[in-house]
Amino acid sequence: MLEYKNNFLFIDEVSVLNISTGIDTPFYLYSKNKLLKNYAEINNSFKKANHIICYAVKANENPYLLRILAKNGCGCDIVSIGELNLALKAGINPKKIVFAGVGKQENEIRAAIKSDILMFNIESIPELYSIDRIAKLLNKTARIAFRVNPDIDAKTHPHITTGLSHNKFGLTFKEAYEGYLLAKGLKNIEIVGIHTHIGSQITDSASFVLASKKVAGYISKLKAAGINLKYIDMGGGLGIRYKDEKVINPSDYADAILKYLPKNHTIILEPGRFLVAETGVLITKVIYVKKTLKKKFLVVDAGMNDLVRPAIYGAYHEIIPVKWKNGKQHNWDIVGPICESSDVFAKDRLMPLASEGDYLAILCAGAYGYSMSSNYNMRPRPAEIIIENNKWRIIRKREIL
Ligand SMILES: *Cc1c(COP(=O)(O)O)cnc(C)c1O
Repeated sequence: MLEYKNNFLFIDEVSVLNISTGIDTPFYLYSKNKLLKNYAEINNSFKKANHIICYAVKANENPYLLRILAKNGCGCDIVSIGELNLALKAGINPKKIVFAGVGKQENEIRAAIKSDILMFNIESIPELYSIDRIAKLLNKTARIAFRVNPDIDAKTHPHITTGLSHNKFGLTFKEAYEGYLLAKGLKNIEIVGIHTHIGSQITDSASFVLASKKVAGYISKLKAAGINLKYIDMGGGLGIRYKDEKVINPSDYADAILKYLPKNHTIILEPGRFLVAETGVLITKVIYVKKTLKKKFLVVDAGMNDLVRPAIYGAYHEIIPVKWKNGKQHNWDIVGPICESSDVFAKDRLMPLASEGDYLAILCAGAYGYSMSSNYNMRPRPAEIIIENNKWRIIRKREIL
């Protein structure tokens, strides 16, 4: 989706400089083509199985992007009533909505039951009782799965691993087994599935194979106890290339996930990052070029309130100039304006000579970018722009504070 033409950066045939000079920076810029391409890729790779793609809304909750996904038959993985309402408003079919999260509250459970979502992914026994009680009050039956924590080390960043036994997420196989037996006896609960999500930004297919194997073995055990499931929800976590990671391609991912799973089930996938990360870039402007004895800084107008991943995960994002300058490259520290030492997008990054007023593109910023943004330092959240049919348009205005 990105290419330089005569040293100017283009996304889907649109000059990024032309957009940048017409609107305040920073702003997020998305490619509809790329979003649809990613969705088709993962959807097609699971063609051999009955499946539902439930996009993890938390990765990027822009309503316009959700509508594009809804129109293409995508479902959603939600974690709050806010995401539920957004998904429904965007036209996501409630029969394709799954609800995760360790702290579902009464009003959230009520709204989800009323909307008749596909299933709750339950993370504790008290939650099971809560859902049963609320379903009873509404005179409804709630479909549920238990989220199991298969104790797999997906070798990802400690802040984004979820499948280890010391994480707060899900239940051990043993606890979930008790849960299933309890759930069997509850009148307003219908057991329909099992759920697992082993972590994020996973680049090692062996982790998915192991999850497939463990879940498959567990399903046979449940079957022997008279518990038959319709849905196997294998979560999200497919990694993308931020720098030089060797990533799993979607077809190998599907093979890994499906390797041990029994047939005759509907498989649910919850990709977040894979669908949207490479769909978006964050465009920012150089405010000052600051040279000290030891360092050369580019102080830009985007900060950790706009894109927090480098600050909290030490995440790497490639940064490229919107107008390429030939000649000697320099080592730059690219930093935001916020009063925190962690407000740094890149250290010692080799880039062409830059000057005040230049625009930079921070790549792979479509996932956990805007959705994790804040008003820290009293800064407005940035605008969001989409390129579709080789034209750009604003899909969310810059906040006014
Ligand atoms: C965050 C999350 C996802 C999405 O993870 P990605 O790594 O972005 O694919 C899916 N399922 C659950 C339960 C999650 O918490």
